Amino acid sequence: MPTNTLEMLRITFESDGFTFHDYGFVESIVEHRRKIYQQINGTLEGIEKLSSPDDKKRTGEYFFFFEAGMKHGVSYYLKKDDMSNIGNRAHEETHALHDAGRLDILEGRLRNFGVFIGVSGFKPFSDCTAFEQELAANIGKIYALFINGINPLSGNFLDDPYNHPAKIVFEDALNNIHPW
Ligand SMILES: [Zn+2]
Repeated sequence: MPTNTLEMLRITFESDGFTFHDYGFVESIVEHRRKIYQQINGTLEGIEKLSSPDDKKRTGEYFFFFEAGMKHGVSYYLKKDDMSNIGNRAHEETHALHDAGRLDILEGRLRNFGVFIGVSGFKPFSDCTAFEQELAANIGKIYALFINGINPLSGNFLDDPYNHPAKIVFEDALNNIHPW
């Protein structure tokens, strides 16, 4: 059974049907995607379905494929400053955790950290809208920044439209300490 390690989230879990491949920091998201896609498929045919107009803005990427009855999650990301590096890695790791059907682990960690956010209630990764996938991943990102010694809620780091929904969820959870 594969053991999956999510370094920024500090979560290790075993899963029957899922294995995570973290390719680490890469020079170019688009170039690395081409390389992996070619390795998996033996051709670049069909790669355009993974590209989007946002490609140039991407700081990391997660996608999955099936091989030999196993779902493989793949991620890689760009190197920037410490805060972005931790955040981007944790974001992609949370996509993997979601895709493995194990957001319950993150929910438990959040609870230990002192916040209740019912992330295990998200639908399966592939059934979620892009907004829901990104919300879940950005909650994981905020949690990972906290446990790695950075308070991401101070300042305006998360005030862009992409991160802001997760910031609101996290702040609300911190302000409504539940007696569990
Ligand atoms: Zn994402």
